[in-house]
Amino acid sequence: MDSVVDPATGETIAEVPRTADVDAAVDGARTAFEDWRRRTPAERSTALLHLAELVLADAAGLTEVESRNVGKPIAATPEEIDFSVDNLRFFAGAARCLAGPVAGEYVGGATSMVRREPVGVVAAITPWNYPLMMAVWKLGPAIAAGCAVVLKPSELTPLSTLRLADLAAKALPPGVFTVVTGAGRLGAALAAHPGVDMVSVTGSVRTGRAVATAAAPTLKRLHLELGGKAPVVVFDDADVEAVAAGVRAAGYGNAGQDCTAACRVIATPGVYGKVVEAVTASAASLVVGDPRDPATELGPLVSRTHRDRVAGFVSRALSAGATATTGGGALDGPGAFFAPTVLAGADQRSEIVQNEVFGPVVTLQRAADEEDALRLAADVEYALAASVWTSDAGRAMRAAARLRFGAVWVNDHITAASEMPHGGFRLSGYGRDMSTAALDHYSEPRHVMVRW
Ligand code: NAD
Repeated sequence: MDSVVDPATGETIAEVPRTADVDAAVDGARTAFEDWRRRTPAERSTALLHLAELVLADAAGLTEVESRNVGKPIAATPEEIDFSVDNLRFFAGAARCLAGPVAGEYVGGATSMVRREPVGVVAAITPWNYPLMMAVWKLGPAIAAGCAVVLKPSELTPLSTLRLADLAAKALPPGVFTVVTGAGRLGAALAAHPGVDMVSVTGSVRTGRAVATAAAPTLKRLHLELGGKAPVVVFDDADVEAVAAGVRAAGYGNAGQDCTAACRVIATPGVYGKVVEAVTASAASLVVGDPRDPATELGPLVSRTHRDRVAGFVSRALSAGATATTGGGALDGPGAFFAPTVLAGADQRSEIVQNEVFGPVVTLQRAADEEDALRLAADVEYALAASVWTSDAGRAMRAAARLRFGAVWVNDHITAASEMPHGGFRLSGYGRDMSTAALDHYSEPRHVMVRW
């Protein structure tokens, strides 16, 4: 068995199986798939609406489990449950809109039509930062499209996903959604399994590469939602208080453990000084503490191992010449707490600017002008998300066009909508969660031609 730990206290809160019978899970999913794919969109939609209602009814329990297992502040967790419910409802509606081009006569004497059909059995592999939401982001479109899903949550945070599986057992036929617990090895076994048609991963670049390699011999369809290093590009005409509020929410929310976290602030000269002041003051005033306290804004990192990793990044950045305008190190105590940190003056080529830190750490860089700001923003290997802060609509559109990231926000950062796609390119992977783009990804368009 694997121990599941509360990162705020270091205490073990549950034991879950370390490994699972992958063959049995995939065989069960294949059998379930043969029935599920023949159900009408209306039936699939009804099942997803039922699951959404069950998740909503269990919101308090799921909030408690998620907060305890991940160390999320209890006041911030309900919005993740609400968003998960919204997502399930969106895909319940979208299930009934799954279509290809209309039938037509494209070759003389024959009618062609597209049958949009499910990809098959999907292995979903999820990370620890938003365990329930990531499970729902995969489950919703896959189930709506008619796939069966075998999901492996992170070994650090399996509890809300296991609870979701209990709820799903009341809404979905057996085998349509199966959860298996265990470490990365189990994910690799699923990715290689010949009974799996598609692998959908949210996780690190290293895991994305390993899954792509394991899936290569069987040429499975892949959906890789990987890391990010989002720039926050602030122009001279920006509202600096709004920038500080945006970074407070999107840079330090979930302790910065977010693939779209607002972690690289790049400001032009006329505003740089004010940005340093406002972002520093805002970060320094965050209430750090017990996630169960409703006043807490910043909880622990997910584990002490991860906290040590974040501490390593920060201490190397300081040795290389960056300055901590606030924070800069781990906090004492049994949990995995790290002080909200702002680092000014790191070099563009340094690892703190180029690599995903995944902690409450924001860097501040001064750009020479608009062109330089956009250049620095784009100069990383990730392409998941970015934000632009300006009061000039033309500059906003120009920047949004230039910044090739999967999402660009203007005067906002991190807000998502079930109707809009989420995903990136380059090292951030490929494929999209949410929106009808996800539904397309979990389905195959097949051409059927009828000769008259
Ligand atoms: P991780 O890559 O360590 O683990 C993710 C999942 O993959 C876990 O379930 C893990 O057990 C599994 N895994 C590990 N090795 C594997 C292997 N060889 N084969 C198959 N599965 C394997 O990631 P994490 O530390 O849990 O999560 C943080 C990462 O997730 C960050 O890089 C973050 O950017 C990324 N993330 C991306 C998005 C997005 O939408 N793009 C969202 C959230 C998190």
